[in-house]
Amino acid sequence: MDLPSFPCDGGCACGAVRYRLLDDPLALHVCHCTECQTLTGTAFILSMPTRRTSLEVVQGDPILAVFETVSGITHRNRCCPDCGTRLWSESLTLPDFVTFRPGTLDDTSWLRPVAHIWTRSAQPWVEIPQGVLRYEKGADDYVDVVRAWKERVRP
Ligand SMILES: [Zn+2]
Ligand SMILES: [Zn+2]
Repeated sequence: MDLPSFPCDGGCACGAVRYRLLDDPLALHVCHCTECQTLTGTAFILSMPTRRTSLEVVQGDPILAVFETVSGITHRNRCCPDCGTRLWSESLTLPDFVTFRPGTLDDTSWLRPVAHIWTRSAQPWVEIPQGVLRYEKGADDYVDVVRAWKERVRP
């Protein structure tokens, strides 16, 4: 897989918020859990953990939406105040990292997830590609996903 040349830019659907990714993300996985399906209103979510210092907001002021899901998980999502596009999520326990929604990048052609998690609740028509990590539930140890990403992008 070829990484793009950084920095690369992205933003929300209405264009009010623009951000810049300064260097490599740490991993990229797909989550098929039912909560992600509900949160996005689609079939799965793309999650790209990234160092906080790799992210620069270049335009607009994304708001922080904090809420607890019915299963009791607290989410802290940065969204465009106008169109509501979710750009990344933040964590109180891991303040040095954000998790990007990389579908908001201008160029998504290089995105190749290295792991699929919660495959037991994947939509029945979804086919998990060969050669990726797959987990029935959450990743046993996320370090394995980070390692798989590293091997893929810098072999
Ligand atoms: Zn917007
Ligand atoms: Zn999920």
